Amino acid sequence: MPKPILLSVDDDSNVLRAIERDLRSQYGAKYRVMGSDSPESALDILKQLKVRNDTVALLLADQRMPRMDGVHFLQEAMGIYPDAKRALLTAYADTNAAISAINDVGINYFFLKPWDPPAERLYPQLDDMLDDWQASYRPAYEGIRVLGTRWSPRSYELRDFLARNHVPYQWIDVELTANDPETKRTLDSLGPEAQNLPIVLFPDGTRLLESLPAQVAQKVGLRTRAQTSFYDLAIVGGGPAGLAAAVYGATEGLHTVMIERQAPGGQAGMSSRIENYLGFPTGLSGADLARRAVYQAQRFGVEILAPQEVTGVRTEGPYRILKLGDSSEISCHALLIATGVQWRRLDAPGIDRLQGAGVYYGGGATEAFSCKGEIVYVVGGANSAGQAAMNFAKYADRVVLLVRSDSLSSTMSKYLIDQIQQTPNIQLWTHASVAEVHGESHLEEISVRCSDTNKIERVPATAIFIFIGALPQTGWLRDLVQRDERGFILTGPDLMRNAQRPEGWTPDRDPFLLETNVPGIFAVGDVRHGSVKRVASGVGEGSVAVQFIHKYLSKV
Ligand SMILES: Cc1cc2nc3c(=O)[nH]c(=O)nc-3n(C[C@H](O)[C@H](O)[C@H](O)COP(=O)(O)OP(=O)(O)OC[C@H]3O[C@@H](n4cnc5c(N)ncnc54)[C@H](O)[C@@H]3O)c2cc1C
Repeated sequence: MPKPILLSVDDDSNVLRAIERDLRSQYGAKYRVMGSDSPESALDILKQLKVRNDTVALLLADQRMPRMDGVHFLQEAMGIYPDAKRALLTAYADTNAAISAINDVGINYFFLKPWDPPAERLYPQLDDMLDDWQASYRPAYEGIRVLGTRWSPRSYELRDFLARNHVPYQWIDVELTANDPETKRTLDSLGPEAQNLPIVLFPDGTRLLESLPAQVAQKVGLRTRAQTSFYDLAIVGGGPAGLAAAVYGATEGLHTVMIERQAPGGQAGMSSRIENYLGFPTGLSGADLARRAVYQAQRFGVEILAPQEVTGVRTEGPYRILKLGDSSEISCHALLIATGVQWRRLDAPGIDRLQGAGVYYGGGATEAFSCKGEIVYVVGGANSAGQAAMNFAKYADRVVLLVRSDSLSSTMSKYLIDQIQQTPNIQLWTHASVAEVHGESHLEEISVRCSDTNKIERVPATAIFIFIGALPQTGWLRDLVQRDERGFILTGPDLMRNAQRPEGWTPDRDPFLLETNVPGIFAVGDVRHGSVKRVASGVGEGSVAVQFIHKYLSKV
């Protein structure tokens, strides 16, 4: 924990050095001693310290300074650090000014120059003040702070990114906390820069204005660039299937890299509670599963690049070469595609405009806390929607689950239907679909089409979470890898036509179970045609694929 600061200000450099020396020798173990030879630059220092969330315990200023006297300086400094103890250094002639400052502007003490011996004329009074300060001192938050507004899509994207990558941060909604004095002081200290939201403030004083996930990723040390240009195994996608393959690949001696566009965990990372994964009888959150899997993969030496997107692939003889979002390339002998599926967009007027400002796809775990006391709509009738409804019901006043059909029984697991029925603040609205969403800067109302009454109802809403099925995004594979009409990748037996191997296939064997039409390129998990869309099946496929990869590599 950084030490609280004692700041002294004196335009006479000899006096400044003497006071710093005396403060350091007595208090240096517990406090950081700083000095400034002008009140103006001392105020600048205080603003910098405020932005870094440092704590100032004591301000000690000389009364006679050109341009700004000590009393005036301490008054200004109070606006930045109101809880710091304030003391004046005065000559005998200025004692009247010092006494009236004690009464008028709340200065705690004044010291007469010279203060020798300090053991009698400085330390006892300072001890008193600092003891007093310590009694009400609450250590400031030391980590990353994100300043933004709830309805800003960029703020949402950033918070979601940090949460999914397990980077701890403190969220400061500058609109919601506009009347909070501490927020005001931080914004004042930022000056005109405070306009450039979202802002990320780091404990080392770095600030990122209009900050983007990729910039923050770099600053917090998430690796986005490969360490070498060649790997035995490259895995695209860091969901359960990709993570399982990474762990098995690395434990079995393959030099492995895993490239993930957003955050390891994939769709499972958005799940508030996975209840059907073997070995976790009381369930676990997707974030927890992802965190454990990432540690496990890293422990075995897997290199994880995230956030980093794979945008293309080509083959050159036995090499499979990936093009990344930053235009760099890495090559490998075996490539495993585990890119899963992404949410289908809801086609209704207003949806695209308000995305990130009340309209969210998927879990929106970061938003759950903000929905306290509000009415939240969840669209979809599958397990993912049910889990989300259960999660939001912990915070929201009411959760309305909008489903097209007349019940949940054909689309949702029984255990979830039971939980929903037992949760009084979840309301099921059947025969319902979203016709339009309304709002200027953020969602305010939604129009719901009721297929049983043929009417459209307009209802107030602050947040709508959409879970209406998902499709693979495999366009980056172009014509290299065979896919079905919806974009899912064909593997193994699905590639055989009338007992014929796929066109262009050269090895003297059929494609392995999880291999695509290109030897050495494999596909696992939700992205694979015919896959069972579950965490356990993705993990199973990812693990099994490594056996086939070994067989393939033994002949390369
Ligand atoms: C909210 C929710 C709750 C769920 N609950 C359960 C449950 O309780 N039990 C259960 O068994 N299943 C559940 N599922 C389903 C389960 O999460 C999925 O079946 C599983 O995550 C699929 O794993 P995957 O690795 O194949 O793909 P995904 O989890 O989809 O991961 C794919 C990853 O690839 C990345 N990616 C995509 N394209 C690229 C690219 N070009 N470059 C780099 N990276 C890329 C994506 O960002 C993503 O992280 C749930 C799903 C959701 C959404």
